[in-house]
Amino acid sequence: MSSPPEGAGVDFFAQGGLPVPLVTVEQAAGLAATSFGMKVRAFPLGSQQDCNFLLAGDGGPAGVLKIANPAFSRTEVEAQDAAAELIAAAGLRAGVATHGPVAVPLAGGPALARVLRYLPGGTLTGPGYLSPRVVAGLGLVAGRVSRALRGFDHPGLDRVLQWDLRHGLRVVTVLAEHVRDPELRARVTEAASGAWRRVEPLAGELPWQAVHGDVTDDNVVCSVVRPGVNGLRTPDGVIDFGDLTRSWAVGELAVAITSVLRHAGAEPCSVLPAVRAFHAERPLSAAEVAALWPLVVLRAAVLVVSGEQQAALDSGNEYVTGALEHERTCLDQAVSVPVEVMTALMTNELGFPGPGPRVAPGTAVADLGRVSVLDLAVQSDVVDEGAWLSPGLAGRMALARLDGGADAVVTRYGEARLDASRVLAETSPATVATGIELWLARPVTLGAGSPGSPGSPGEELVLTVPGGGTVLPARTAVQVGVRVAGGPEVPWLVRPEYAAGWLALTADPGPLLGLPPAVPAGDLVGGDLLDRRSAAFADVQEHYYADPPRIERGWRHQLAAVDGRSYLDMVNNVAVLGHAHPRLAAAVDRQLRKLNTNSRFHYGVVAEFAERLAGLLPSPLDTVFLVNSGSEAVDLALRLALVTTGRQDVVAVQEAYHGWTYASDAVSTSTADNPNALATRPRWVHAVDAPNAYRGRYRGASAVWYAADAVRFIAGLAADGRPPAAFLAEPFYGNAGGMALPDGYLSAVYAEVRRHGGLAIADEIQVGYGRLGHWFWGFEQQSVVPDVVTVAKAMGNGYPLGAVITSREIAGKYRDAGYFFSSTGGSPVSCVAGLTVLDVIADEGLQANAALVGSYLKGRLEELAGRHPLIGAVHGSGLYLGAEFVRDRDTLEPATAETMAICDRMLSLGVVIQPTSDRMCVLKIKPPLCLDAAGADFFADTLDRVLTE
Ligand code: PMP
Repeated sequence: MSSPPEGAGVDFFAQGGLPVPLVTVEQAAGLAATSFGMKVRAFPLGSQQDCNFLLAGDGGPAGVLKIANPAFSRTEVEAQDAAAELIAAAGLRAGVATHGPVAVPLAGGPALARVLRYLPGGTLTGPGYLSPRVVAGLGLVAGRVSRALRGFDHPGLDRVLQWDLRHGLRVVTVLAEHVRDPELRARVTEAASGAWRRVEPLAGELPWQAVHGDVTDDNVVCSVVRPGVNGLRTPDGVIDFGDLTRSWAVGELAVAITSVLRHAGAEPCSVLPAVRAFHAERPLSAAEVAALWPLVVLRAAVLVVSGEQQAALDSGNEYVTGALEHERTCLDQAVSVPVEVMTALMTNELGFPGPGPRVAPGTAVADLGRVSVLDLAVQSDVVDEGAWLSPGLAGRMALARLDGGADAVVTRYGEARLDASRVLAETSPATVATGIELWLARPVTLGAGSPGSPGSPGEELVLTVPGGGTVLPARTAVQVGVRVAGGPEVPWLVRPEYAAGWLALTADPGPLLGLPPAVPAGDLVGGDLLDRRSAAFADVQEHYYADPPRIERGWRHQLAAVDGRSYLDMVNNVAVLGHAHPRLAAAVDRQLRKLNTNSRFHYGVVAEFAERLAGLLPSPLDTVFLVNSGSEAVDLALRLALVTTGRQDVVAVQEAYHGWTYASDAVSTSTADNPNALATRPRWVHAVDAPNAYRGRYRGASAVWYAADAVRFIAGLAADGRPPAAFLAEPFYGNAGGMALPDGYLSAVYAEVRRHGGLAIADEIQVGYGRLGHWFWGFEQQSVVPDVVTVAKAMGNGYPLGAVITSREIAGKYRDAGYFFSSTGGSPVSCVAGLTVLDVIADEGLQANAALVGSYLKGRLEELAGRHPLIGAVHGSGLYLGAEFVRDRDTLEPATAETMAICDRMLSLGVVIQPTSDRMCVLKIKPPLCLDAAGADFFADTLDRVLTE
């Protein structure tokens, strides 16, 4: 038997294409038996140039049979095995050889076969979404591989591969003829030569070394929280060393991040976590950063031409033909943002000195006179009545200021603006201004002068004005910019993700117009501020999301971050009317200017508000206490029960949250809020089973048994001489995800607790006040009337307000045995806030809207459940809904990690949503009650997309 070539490495340009050797599964299994003594079955694995099979014996996967392309020599194969050993020694999982190599005869000539260790966990193959964490993991693996191979040398590295980006332009030139579509052919060759023009001058500064050459989504293996869910994977290993060679070290990263670009939702800025992670492991030089994006473009171009060539050679290879579209996607993405922008963005990200925000240093060309600066930032106090920064607002305000005597009105360079026309229309709109907009009272003629040079050698700045003229017209918006000459055309507004990149290609035109430089836009994301928060604020007061947007504005059911992005708010049940309601703001403002004092004074609104609240409840609930929060309300309700009954024990339900004060915390059993909750309840608190009809002891129709158990439990307490002072529960199970209690549950349990002289307390803090749509109060759904009701949250639309409502009789007993005074509870301002909220709920028909939009949204979610098995159930009523995620609809295994990943991905697509329940596997859907059908659709469509991708 002749052997594959010894020593001399493959030369792609001499060899031409490398068709995959043809081996059937039977032959592969036969080879494994005869060459390696393995009794296994073989399953084909895709590859572009080698031939790979998964070998499985009775005990599961036994290894990967890899038959190298006959063009590859033994020395090359040995180098690959040595590299895999090195990488394994560096702590990554690696596909090291366990058997072979041995030469095997194939139709196309002898080839080397060996068995590699099978690494469980799967790769990131496929078009699914990759979360920033996973992308960072890919970059980290590439960085660790690069470090592990830094000093590695072997004669088997002497080969000329088409994947070596040093030959990238040549590969594209040679293979371009295989691209059948002439338009694509032109695009790919142009992209490659453009990229090469940038790389070539840097080539001398790019360090080279042994590289794996193919650390991609297909070739990293992951340890897994759950198979098949990319968002939850952690890349921690690497396979397929077939492209091992010597090349530019930075190419390892370029190859890795190019593979990200084909995934759902990915775009150039999606790769930044990988770049950061690589840099942290194996620091990049300035030259490497400058070469990186051109190398990504080049890699994408090589992938396209190689894919087309391989498809022509090997039209039956589905792995190859299937990849063509993804390769084009990589190229489209790689060229979708100018290289200069990506380079500046990465330079900025990695903290290299770059041009940064700069001001045009030249001599002033105009004196604008008395200038008024228009603040259009998201935090600005400039607001339209009933809208936020609507499209025509800037112009209207500017003209008004000119009429008021200003000579010029200017906006700020680098400022992120919120444009109401784009809210929820675009996930991430262009918001950051790359120049100054100005309005003039009189025309201004620009004088001689120039922007000068910004300091970077060879760069020239140019002032751009509309029409290129020298006279700026009066009373119309004029956009003035300063650009780096010869750079790409800069849009007037750019997306915040790329703002640092674009702004590096521009300068602040202010000084040229005699204006002080704009205060740099600064931290659009809010990272520094988060550090300040962590340093000054007790950290038990957590924040949503590991990497939260800095939200500084709200309007109706939308929120806006300082980078100008808007979000659909599906979490703010407190803001029932919606954010920044003008009627509430005006009413509170008016009252604050008149009087705010405590309820021991005699004033009108406290009587009015108490009457209104009492009027919302059935008889005999006619007596009101006013406090400032839900926790206070629950605390007071418990005191009423304990003091008026003279007892000490309270029955609550499991998986409940009622507040943070001593007593309200004592009855809070939810382990999501407090992991030790069940173990640390005081002796006077007794928790009965969570009456959860979806999961738990009784399900579906048998959920009625929860009531019988609770009744028996209460009777048992009484028999033990400890009859409870109260039974306390949410009358609709908000904390478990918005579930109705089983039919008849509260009437049975209330009857039993009353039979023993205790009180029935309904905590309506989350679910009451119209949110359920069909009922104003949750207890109405159960056809019961409690003895004590607690309310808060919605009452003040965010203004701190809470109430306890009970009967005159119970309040009277409390008066005899206890006391109560709250300095701010029932203050004039809080009563005005409370009255206005009730007026708006009524005038705007918000309860009816909750019923209407809620049932529409529930229908849409149920439709999604028909297509996405992860949605086990859709709970709730009105605008308190819960989408519960399970891994298996029979076992109901909670999809906790998935739910977290879904929330993160929803945020990136513009939806604020959070999990609830003790298993944190239910999306709690409780938006402001002004949510409209468009908002409901945006939510359902986004969830559909996330579950699909
Ligand atoms: N009860 C329930 C049912 C709640 O959901 C909450 C708050 N999440 C509270 C009481 C406590 O209210 P607050 O945060 O206003 O003190």
